[in-house]
Amino acid sequence: MIRFEDLIEKVKAANPEADTELLRRAYVFSAYEHKGQVRRSGEPYLVHPLGVADLLADMRLDPVAVAAGLLHDIVEDTPNTIEKVRELFGEQVAHVVEGVTKLSTLQFSSSEERQAESFRKMLLAMVDDIRVILVKLADRLHNMRTLQHLPEDRRLRIAQETREIYAPIAHRLGMSKLKNELEELAFRHLEPQAYQALRQQVEEKRAATEGLIEELRSRIAATLADAQIPVVSIDGRTKRLFSIYQKLKRQRIGLDQVYDFVAMRIVTETVSGCYAALGIIHQTWSPVPGRFKDFIAMPRPNGYQSLHTSVVSERGVPFEVQIRTEEMHHIAEEGIAAHWKYKEGRVGAERDEQYFQWLRQLLEIQQEVRDPHEFLQNLRIELYPEDVYIFTPKGEVKSLPAGATPLDFAYSVHTDIGHQCVGVRVNGRMVPLRSRLSNGDIVEIITQSGHTPSRDWLTFVTTSRARNKIKHFIHTQEKVRSVDLGRKLFEKDVRRFGIDKALVTPEELTRIGAEYGAPKPDDLYAAIGYGKLAPRAILSRLVGQDALREPAKDGAIATVFKKVMGTGEQKIKVRGIDDVMVFLARCCNPIRGEKIVGYITRGKGVSVHAATCPNVVNLLYAPERKIDVEWDSGVETGAYSVRLKIRVEDRKGILADLSSRIAEINTNIRDIEATTDSEHHGFIRMTVEISDLKHLQQVVKSIKKIDGVLDVERAAR
Ligand code: MN
Repeated sequence: MIRFEDLIEKVKAANPEADTELLRRAYVFSAYEHKGQVRRSGEPYLVHPLGVADLLADMRLDPVAVAAGLLHDIVEDTPNTIEKVRELFGEQVAHVVEGVTKLSTLQFSSSEERQAESFRKMLLAMVDDIRVILVKLADRLHNMRTLQHLPEDRRLRIAQETREIYAPIAHRLGMSKLKNELEELAFRHLEPQAYQALRQQVEEKRAATEGLIEELRSRIAATLADAQIPVVSIDGRTKRLFSIYQKLKRQRIGLDQVYDFVAMRIVTETVSGCYAALGIIHQTWSPVPGRFKDFIAMPRPNGYQSLHTSVVSERGVPFEVQIRTEEMHHIAEEGIAAHWKYKEGRVGAERDEQYFQWLRQLLEIQQEVRDPHEFLQNLRIELYPEDVYIFTPKGEVKSLPAGATPLDFAYSVHTDIGHQCVGVRVNGRMVPLRSRLSNGDIVEIITQSGHTPSRDWLTFVTTSRARNKIKHFIHTQEKVRSVDLGRKLFEKDVRRFGIDKALVTPEELTRIGAEYGAPKPDDLYAAIGYGKLAPRAILSRLVGQDALREPAKDGAIATVFKKVMGTGEQKIKVRGIDDVMVFLARCCNPIRGEKIVGYITRGKGVSVHAATCPNVVNLLYAPERKIDVEWDSGVETGAYSVRLKIRVEDRKGILADLSSRIAEINTNIRDIEATTDSEHHGFIRMTVEISDLKHLQQVVKSIKKIDGVLDVERAAR
């Protein structure tokens, strides 16, 4: 059992001016209040708060945090209230104890709704005072160390929760020492057989390479001393069981093939010493290609800094080498706790701020997400960051989660850059927006003001930030469109049945809307515009069924209206309605002269398909959404978009030739995107503004004449 006097010494060593009186009082109070209580292990209860306080002292936290560790179970497990704690130990200690007590009631092994809510609360507590989560993590670690005394069901639940929630949080806060121990313990309890088997295998392998670590250690020490590189420490170890286990599972390999079974760590005095040591290591042993990583120049999002490389020893055994300074080492082990202690003095305040920024951003994003499933998915991405490092054209480094696309990058820079993104150059070449970024890519986003996000983007962006910004935009836009379309459809029927407009007052609409769960007239229009509600249903409430028997006249009013989506002007008529939002369906992209059919979409207005489009057949399962449309014969000018797919030889300048040729025949290009495949074939996809079939034929003909063009076809999206 830890002695209280040792705890005091630890706190004083970290901070000589610390108020140890506060700790003394907290200890006496905790000892008295928990007196007679026994843990499952048979030990007196006090062992637990004392152990938690000791872990917090190891993190070199302040007396408030350590005192809160001593008192963290007081409210939950003794008759004392939080007011009592506040009265005796002050506002700060009480605040942390209260936060920890609240966290202990959160449920994570329950429905997604409750999980999401629990996470929300935890994030709030973390933003409020980071010491709350630090005490909670220490509490959890101490409980995990003595988990074997609990009955199986509780043991599994706690271990599961530790693996899925607390270890990732510790990881994200950069506290790798604590995270590693949590993971090892969870592994032992959750998969006892795999754990024991692996442990035995690793033991055997360690025995076989007996002496290797010591041999490497002294060899490295001698070599660095020869090169006169000052070193603080060199040590070596075999990798943790859980990390080996994950590697075996992920790469489906045997233990023999695990690369860096042994890892050596060199702590140097200075940053330049790190790079000098790296040079010496690479001179002495052959580096394994592709294994060098510079996390000093490009720290991980959780603040981790180090140089990593793998080399092959004389015995032919590969091993990993990590090189860092002392301060980097502290931060690598303790993460946010290391910053925390520096906060009042000198270093670290800046990177400290970075953790909070992450927390706040996460919280902000989550507040916009209502769906618990999605919330948890976002959180998982945020908690398990595996990163790629990419560069802006100005050489700034950004880190993004693995699998991120150029759009994710654009949204990480600014929401508007994301919204207005029309293309991207990666390492100087145009690539599709959906491509995945790799380490070291130089990414240049091309924007066009007025451009807006497309729903397709949701199918490939990976960051929660991009996803939420796009969804938010689409949602807002759809709502506006649906209200507008709904109002027009409604007014059309008002005219059609010759209903007195004076009867259609906002008051009446509000009254009827209440019956449909639409508190405002706009909500009612939105329901019509989404195709959820027919105008007739509302009108019958308003004037009675009988008044709707005879249409006053057939809906023959036809008006040319402007296209709302995009910039081009569409010439389509919708029977009976002025100025509704109409767009040509992307699946068939009908051209003037083709037979067309209109369809009320959920939130996007009226989509116009070619009558021959296979989708039409499916769409017309809901016949009430069908609407009559026709080409406007009166007006001949105006453009609509046609997508072309052009197969070309991968020749320099072909893109320039193409665009100038098209410009020569007075045709606008709305967007253009070029890609190549491995066989040196190029593909160019572009959208041109076309006025009619004849115009299209002309464009296709002139493209075909360009040298290097193999094939042109009209493309569906
Ligand atoms: Mn506890």
